[in-house]
Amino acid sequence: MQLKGSFIQSLPKIELHVHLDCSLSYDVVKKMDPQVTESYYQQHFIGPVRCNDLSDYLQRADHALKLMQTSEHMVMAVEDLYDQFMRDHIIYGEIRFAPLLHTKGELTPKQVVRIVTQTALRCQEERNIKGGIILCTLRHFNQEESMKTAALACQFYNKGVIGFDIASDELGHPLNNHLEAFKKVQEQGIPCTAHAGEARGAESVWETLEKLHPQRIGHGVRSTEDDHLLRHLKNKNIHLEICPTSNIQTRACKDLHSHPIDKMYHLGLSLSVNTDARTISNTTSTREYLLLQEVFKWTIEHFYSCNKEAIKHAFTSGTIKKVIDDQLDKAYLKYL
Ligand SMILES: [Zn+2]
Repeated sequence: MQLKGSFIQSLPKIELHVHLDCSLSYDVVKKMDPQVTESYYQQHFIGPVRCNDLSDYLQRADHALKLMQTSEHMVMAVEDLYDQFMRDHIIYGEIRFAPLLHTKGELTPKQVVRIVTQTALRCQEERNIKGGIILCTLRHFNQEESMKTAALACQFYNKGVIGFDIASDELGHPLNNHLEAFKKVQEQGIPCTAHAGEARGAESVWETLEKLHPQRIGHGVRSTEDDHLLRHLKNKNIHLEICPTSNIQTRACKDLHSHPIDKMYHLGLSLSVNTDARTISNTTSTREYLLLQEVFKWTIEHFYSCNKEAIKHAFTSGTIKKVIDDQLDKAYLKYL
């Protein structure tokens, strides 16, 4: 049975992988800078269907980052994303960002994290959405920058921050600068995820797992290059945060038909469906689900199962997991 867009939109969903600086709506951009016209936004903030590569894709965030350097604009960006969550019926969302990218103006890294976490906690309360903030170090950061980000994660853990991540371009940026940062946060019991298997292949996922020991992998779509790795991911119950449209844009996958999500699902890997960058990818969770229905004939059963896996691997307490899990059961089981 073909599910309507409005029905998919109404289903409660979980978003584990979305970047704050890649997800500004036109409405909020216009408030931040009234000179930005809709066509400028379409051309520069939203990425083309296919970028040259991941690096080209990432450069699309530069326009948003320029606007996200003041306290007022950081608050607006967080509120805007929670409003988008409401429209998409996200009941649990983990928002990630790299605090050190927001210190070109008046703000110190600590102020940035304080503003984002406080705003996120308020928005969660007001909108009855659970989740929190993941702080990202970036592949091209030096060791000092990475350690600074890790220290912020430790300082704000359980005060809005719920996890740690490494993002940005895998190509040409080995992990050595980040080993200490991951060690530091993991010593504090902070859960970790890591982008890998996007711009580079299975060997990068292996390297990331061996050196950083994350519980989840951001993307990991190129893991299908190595059957041994696929078995390892399944046996170790490592969750994959899959972002279909983003993977096509960055050329991690040729097109949606050849995207490995369906294969990975049927192999029994733990995975979820995410947007990555709501602006750059011009998408929503609803839209990602619709694409999977169209291309792979995914049904409500697939969406239920992905959301159940997502909450199982979410960076939150057992109590919140139970609340969200019950909400999923209540909304989906009557259709199964
Ligand atoms: Zn990402």
